Amino acid sequence: ISTFMYAATPQVMFLFGLVHDFPFAQYTAMVWPAAIVLMIMHYIFAQNYRRRYDLELALELASNSDPMTGLSNRRHFIPILHNEIIRGHRFNHSVSLMVLDIDHFKAINDTHGHPTGDLVICTLAKICQKTARKLDVIARLGGEEFAIVFPCTDIQGAYIVAERLRRGIESSLWTKRQITISIGIAEMSDSLSNSSELTEAADLALYKAKNNGRNRVVRCHLNNVN
Ligand code: GH3
Ligand code: MG
Ligand code: MG
Repeated sequence: ISTFMYAATPQVMFLFGLVHDFPFAQYTAMVWPAAIVLMIMHYIFAQNYRRRYDLELALELASNSDPMTGLSNRRHFIPILHNEIIRGHRFNHSVSLMVLDIDHFKAINDTHGHPTGDLVICTLAKICQKTARKLDVIARLGGEEFAIVFPCTDIQGAYIVAERLRRGIESSLWTKRQITISIGIAEMSDSLSNSSELTEAADLALYKAKNNGRNRVVRCHLNNVN
């Protein structure tokens, strides 16, 4: 468009009587072929640029998300958790982390088949999205294990959400069999001050929840798991 406007401006000015003695025919013969070639080149360049931009966006989305649920994957989640922890330290906000794992998922796959297992994972992802707030970041860490980071939320707040989620899953109308989840939660503190320490603490709490009979939430606070 800009090439067209540059090329056409002198002729338009001539037609409106703003310039006199303008060599209209010579100008058309000399300028317009070059302008048209330039416009075609611009168009091809713009198309190419657009295609590369779309490809880059698709690539970024594919490398950051889990294709089955559309949630963040582990690669995308860990730097987000790291940033939330830094923000929490900087502004003196609490940050809590929850990890959850479906109970006896292998049995669900073995009894009802892999596609049913996949459907359970996708449904669980949707229930997590409905239960969490917009600012909370949910990720599928792998298999049937998920994590949610709760910014500006202490362990009591995270526990309320975790219990709501656990009860929501337990009371959902699953068509084939009842599904339950176990949850471990931990809050950032002086002794759990980076993403790996916080993840380790939440994992430890999840492990306790499994060992204590599953379908429960276990809190890990300042290294005391209860
Ligand atoms: P626990 O209560 O101790 O967590 O027992 P579990 O059977 O859930 O745990 P385990 O880790 O032994 O089993 C996880 C199963 O998840 C095994 C694996 O085949 C299955 N799995 C992992 N990824 C997927 C997936 O994308 N789709 C389906 N359908 N199954 C998956
Ligand atoms: Mg499991
Ligand atoms: Mg597991």
